[in-house]
Amino acid sequence: MQKPRGRHFFANPGPTNIPDSVLRAMDRPSIDFNDPDFVAIYEAAFAGLKRVLRTEQHLFMYNASGHGAWEASLTNLLSPGDTILVVESGYFSDEWAAMARSHALEVRLVAADWRRGADIADVRRHLAADTGHAIKAVCAVHNETLTGMKLPLPAIRAAIDDTGHPALFLADTISSLGSLDFRMDEWGIDCVVGGSQKGLMLPTGMSFTGVSGKALAAHATARLPRFYFDWTMMTQRSTKSFIGTVPVHMFYGLRESVRLIEEEGLDNVHARHTRLAEAARRAVRVWAGNDGPSLYCLSPERFSDSVTTVLMPEGFSGDALRKTIRERFNVSLGGGLGRLSGLIFRIGHLGDLNEPMLLGALAAIEMGLRIQGVPHGRGGVEAAMAFLAEG
Ligand code: PLP
Repeated sequence: MQKPRGRHFFANPGPTNIPDSVLRAMDRPSIDFNDPDFVAIYEAAFAGLKRVLRTEQHLFMYNASGHGAWEASLTNLLSPGDTILVVESGYFSDEWAAMARSHALEVRLVAADWRRGADIADVRRHLAADTGHAIKAVCAVHNETLTGMKLPLPAIRAAIDDTGHPALFLADTISSLGSLDFRMDEWGIDCVVGGSQKGLMLPTGMSFTGVSGKALAAHATARLPRFYFDWTMMTQRSTKSFIGTVPVHMFYGLRESVRLIEEEGLDNVHARHTRLAEAARRAVRVWAGNDGPSLYCLSPERFSDSVTTVLMPEGFSGDALRKTIRERFNVSLGGGLGRLSGLIFRIGHLGDLNEPMLLGALAAIEMGLRIQGVPHGRGGVEAAMAFLAEG
């Protein structure tokens, strides 16, 4: 097959497009991470990330993808046999729960239909019933990257507060930070799990946890085995993070990505994501005509503004469609995972993205639907353009 020309259009929900200026910022020689020149870069990037998290509390960073930060959140805060409450949203909430079980934690699940996510009233019921306060932590994924759905973290905080429950509140912001409104301190999150490769527009490989004072106090008595992710050991390092070599190039990149986010303004970044996401959803709503592909998420108030998950009509494969689109048009889309393998495709619209980039991906999808003979309503791209042209 002929090698495609032109730009590879990348519409995955992570990793995401890396801005040219971030790539340029990382294109530098190595430097000793104790070198004063690097320390200044490190401290600026570290402080910048805290501003993006909207926290004035603690931050620990790891040479690891998001799974590492998940593991750090559990092992630093809990002891063998502890119970946690996981608010089900889809694949990633269930994976976090599976990791917890592998660490000898007891998991109670606020079970949910993946197309709607857990009911907050059920979260409240679980907490109210736990009069002995066995539950040590409530875990929720802010933006469920497989199902294209966000959970209302402030409502979960309110459920914890209303029931007077002392549990810690842990939130995964891997596909929301830098894309969706998120406020660690204001929303009372005790441990925030984040990663480099989505809204922060960096390569994969660095993850982190924002940690509250309350969580740090809980850490002091937590007994799950840990070493590489141990916060106590990290606080004794000059960097206050990282066991092992500091990924200096990530910091060249992070300093630039924070600069880009702050130049645009965090609120404007969120508004851009909302606008592009709405355009993507308008396209899918048109395609849904003629029994075509439709929005997977069934709760409009929970639609994700960073990823749109599209359910294929019965008998048609999301993977076959993605293959056609990649081979014919050099456009990459996200696929299904776990029980949704082959049944869906995902449009990532987060990070460094503008209208033509989104429209390019939507047009490639619409062409792919024609080529594959997938029934659909015509004119999805037109609907997206009409919306984007309005304002
Ligand atoms: N949590 C969420 C919401 C994710 O989207 C992902 C990955 O896409 C993860 C956790 C796992 O992160 P990683 O793949 O970086 O280990």
